[in-house]
Amino acid sequence: MVDKSVLDRIIKKNPGETEFHQAVTEVYNTIQPALEKHRKYRDEKIFERIAEPERQVMFRVPWLDDEGEIQVNRGFRVQFNSALGPYKGGLRFHPSVYLGIIKFLGFEQVFKNSLTGLPMGGSKGGSDFDPKGKSDKEVMRFCQSFMNEMFRHIGADTDVPAGDIGVGGREIGYLFGQYKKLVNRWDGVLTGKGLNWGGSLARTEATGYGLVYFLEEMLKVKKENIKGKTAISSGSGNVSIYTVEKIHQLGGKVVAVSDSGGYVYDKDGIDVNTLKDIKEVHRGRISDYIKKHPKAEYHEGSTKIWNLKADIALPNATQNEIDKKSAEILVKNGVIAVAEGANMPSTIEAIDVFHEAGVLFGPAKAANAGGVATSGLEMAQNSQRMSWSFEEVDARLKDIMKNIYEQSYKTSVEYGQKGNLVVGANIAGFTKVADSMIDQGLV
Ligand code: NDP
Repeated sequence: MVDKSVLDRIIKKNPGETEFHQAVTEVYNTIQPALEKHRKYRDEKIFERIAEPERQVMFRVPWLDDEGEIQVNRGFRVQFNSALGPYKGGLRFHPSVYLGIIKFLGFEQVFKNSLTGLPMGGSKGGSDFDPKGKSDKEVMRFCQSFMNEMFRHIGADTDVPAGDIGVGGREIGYLFGQYKKLVNRWDGVLTGKGLNWGGSLARTEATGYGLVYFLEEMLKVKKENIKGKTAISSGSGNVSIYTVEKIHQLGGKVVAVSDSGGYVYDKDGIDVNTLKDIKEVHRGRISDYIKKHPKAEYHEGSTKIWNLKADIALPNATQNEIDKKSAEILVKNGVIAVAEGANMPSTIEAIDVFHEAGVLFGPAKAANAGGVATSGLEMAQNSQRMSWSFEEVDARLKDIMKNIYEQSYKTSVEYGQKGNLVVGANIAGFTKVADSMIDQGLV
């Protein structure tokens, strides 16, 4: 019997944080078989404790724009759980950021990091600052001001932030420079660093490549592979770009990508070099794609991308981008697999649609864990003062993704829901954290 009062209390205690409510509800409902099987988790009130962050910091970030005018943003760092290792999780800079978004991401991160098998706790942070349309100097001044507060809460053995939406190599560079100045020490305190100063080869590619490695494992159940399949990859940022690249390397074809303005359909397959040029070099819009590829089509409205027909759907932009209706259209159009590169991109109702239709479904916590796993490898290289080759990091990434898939699948079987990777990933991630919390006493 599901004890709904646990969830009700958490939701009441965190009013207005709808994304956090959604993430907590999904995990709580799917780990019920583990809570029933192991009384200790209920007696020790593990779920109630996991849903309460160990520490949350909110702070003022004042900075000067290019006109000399003062701007004020809000910064966040939510340190959710350190049972398995130092806190670890990205920073998101996007105008939609508020506490509820950071908490949903931090909560998910705890289970994701647990699945990687690396010693990492879970945290997340960010700001409602919008880097879009800002000059490099403005972004630098913002990052420096953000770090002026955040430096006292992080550290190579305390909490190691990374990128997420709106935070890429440029932002990590400015954040790292300011951290180093403030503490007078070179620490591996951020991941996603530049290759000349402690970054790991293959970190840029890791989330997208890892997603595709996970997808390959999923497809084996249906004795399928990526070769000859068509795919849709929403978004056109870090995760989407390297998803497209890896799908193409494996003989598949991504026919559509998007940004928040609209989507591009290219029946010949999205040209990844054009994509990199627009997004990584010029920080442009996806609508620019058709200037170089006039046979491709651009349509306004980003979520309409899910009306297209393809074998595989890869939501790689943002939370709740696939709702029940979009899921039904994808199923009607014959999608065989959905793997989530973004965090929580499918609503709970959409996931139900995929499961009921027998579509292979790879949840974010498992499928996009390649990014943080490779960040873990960057931390290992920093503490050894070593750099591994691209091939070595990529091979480890592939192994980790295979292992996450196997753990999730095996756990789904063990708890009587064969092939339900949401149940498998959530329980596998949860039990490891829960057992560690019990070992460490009531802290
Ligand atoms: P980027 O900032 O590089 O790219 C984000 C992309 O998503 C852009 O194309 C952006 O379009 C689009 N997007 C953002 N918000 C919205 C929105 N509200 N509606 C429609 N499109 C939107 O971020 P990443 O590629 O790094 O992150 C994408 C997703 O992957 C996020 O959910 C993130 O949490 C997740 N993720 C990222 C990891 C990483 O290593 N980077 C690791 C694991 C998960 P526009 O430019 O128009 O805003």
